[in-house]
Amino acid sequence: MKAAILNGLNDLEYADIPEPEPVGENPVLIRVGAVGVCGSDVLRYGHGKAYHYPLVLGHEFSAIVEEAPDSPHLSAGDRAAVFPLLHRHGDPMSEIGEYALGTGYDYFGSRRHGAMSERMWVPEQSIFRVPNDMPLTHAAMVEPAGVALHAMLKVQIPTHATALVIGAGPIGALAAQWLRILGCSRVLVADIDDRKLETMSRLGFETIDAKTGDTADLARAATDGWGPQIVVEATGNPKALIQAIESASVQGQVVLLGDLSGDLHLAKDTVSSLLRRELRLYGTWNAKVTPKGRSEWDMVIAHLGRDLHVDELISHVRPLGEAPAVFRRLTDRSIWYNKVLFAVAAEAQEEVRTS
Ligand SMILES: [Zn+2]
Repeated sequence: MKAAILNGLNDLEYADIPEPEPVGENPVLIRVGAVGVCGSDVLRYGHGKAYHYPLVLGHEFSAIVEEAPDSPHLSAGDRAAVFPLLHRHGDPMSEIGEYALGTGYDYFGSRRHGAMSERMWVPEQSIFRVPNDMPLTHAAMVEPAGVALHAMLKVQIPTHATALVIGAGPIGALAAQWLRILGCSRVLVADIDDRKLETMSRLGFETIDAKTGDTADLARAATDGWGPQIVVEATGNPKALIQAIESASVQGQVVLLGDLSGDLHLAKDTVSSLLRRELRLYGTWNAKVTPKGRSEWDMVIAHLGRDLHVDELISHVRPLGEAPAVFRRLTDRSIWYNKVLFAVAAEAQEEVRTS
């Protein structure tokens, strides 16, 4: 079958690889619908962050069931989003359903071959069905939307709350939408990218153009000097994390959602003011998919296409064969992009043609 395979640093090839092998309990053979490019994939491609080579990337993906020999509830043609983490049985955190907090887990597109390929076997438990009329590109956004939801559920939202999201990329844009869905009265979004800010204002958010001044100053000015009660750092830029800490109101909550691109130096005064304001800082990682049917991923699927908008965040959908060229351009930043997806299944390519 065809796959985009990472053979080494900056060395991605669209080539034939052997058919996949069944994995886990009640393995289901799926055809990959669409697969998204995560910021972490760009780091695996161009910054040596891959666990090993060769590696097929791709952990944000939708699927069409092809064969489910041991799963009576699934039939050929069913559409799904697939949770990419394969937990390890016997791990204490996994035993209580906290798969992402466990150790020794396996992961599609990171520790084992992922979804930038035509077919995969996945355990039945990893399959989250979506309505069969949901576009495959949208279903591929369940994974990042789940990451954003998991982070926002850490926060306690006070009455008539104002929130600030720093970073209007896909994860920040999803976090902002969840804050609104979960009950914030005002959600501000800051970025330096005009096109991303435009997208956010089209989605009904107040925006802060971070090119025009210090984000913390601008956020305080927009909130009568108080600062937002909830601040989400969604860029991974160490400076943005300092701005997040500085802009939060007294007893504010700061969510660290971006994986930092470098070390962070916190000035003594910043720490002192963090203490005096009694800030709460939250770390967050991945999403929780248990109990099945009542989990964060089930919540994402229920909101997708209703009040959670992903179409506006998708800047490019390309055939998988273009992956080598696309990754080159993402790495040298010769194109503007937001969420980039590959349409793998013929159905996904057809959806793009007719949309
Ligand atoms: Zn990701």
